[in-house]
Amino acid sequence: MKKFKILFLVSLVICLVVLGFVIFNDLIPIGSKEAVAQTQSQEVEPEKSQEPVAEQVGQTKSASAALSQQQEQQKEAVSNNKIICIDAGHQQKANMNKEPIGPGSSKKKAKVDGGTRGRYTGLTEYQLNLDISLKLQQELESRGYTVVMVRTTNDVDISNSERATIANEAHADAFVRVHADGSDSTSVSGASTLCQTAKNPYNGALYEQSRLLSECVLNGVAASSGCKKRQVIETDKMTGINWSQVPSTIIEVGYLTNKAEEAKLNTDEYQTLIAKGIADGLDQFFQQ
Ligand SMILES: [Zn+2]
Repeated sequence: MKKFKILFLVSLVICLVVLGFVIFNDLIPIGSKEAVAQTQSQEVEPEKSQEPVAEQVGQTKSASAALSQQQEQQKEAVSNNKIICIDAGHQQKANMNKEPIGPGSSKKKAKVDGGTRGRYTGLTEYQLNLDISLKLQQELESRGYTVVMVRTTNDVDISNSERATIANEAHADAFVRVHADGSDSTSVSGASTLCQTAKNPYNGALYEQSRLLSECVLNGVAASSGCKKRQVIETDKMTGINWSQVPSTIIEVGYLTNKAEEAKLNTDEYQTLIAKGIADGLDQFFQQ
């Protein structure tokens, strides 16, 4: 009987051990274990939204900083790798020798005429064009553009076709020619831009781009300076446009025959606004 008692006790111990093992492991299904783990991790999540307000504001600030950095990068991307050729119209001494108005044309015009002159202050167009062009160069370079200047002094002799050739050889993405207007009527004022027509025999294929460039630059100048926005003039009579193999525009920044406009054009402040407006127009053109 003693043997049986020992066997019974040994069996009981084995049963208890097995039962204990079952209770601690097998009785909890695997699915339930995962559920427990999930509940624990879900409890961790809400803590994130309970961060102090100051920290949330900090996050919003850094998010907006990241956004403005992104906008800045996009802005730079607009100007990156873009080459602008700036032609300050005219020069100190006109060159009235003639050249073809377009490649292979039998029609000829003066290589570069004298331009207009301030009716009231005597401000010369070639000097004004250069002053604005130098400000434009600075503005564009500060925005990340690469700038090629046709001229940086008045004492040059570069014909209109040669000016276009400089833009072509630079593979400019835009050729901007800075000029000022004159009129017999002293009441006329405001800015205009010029480009070729769609039927231009030399570069009609560039019409759409040049037209868009002209619209963008005119809008930019009018918005920045507050001057009267006149119009985009389409013409195939401009040697410097006809020889151009890149999108081009002439910006007539205002009338030197209008007393009030001439006075404004004679100030650094207004010239800076014009330059900024042209640059805004170029930004706009490349964002299209
Ligand atoms: Zn001119």
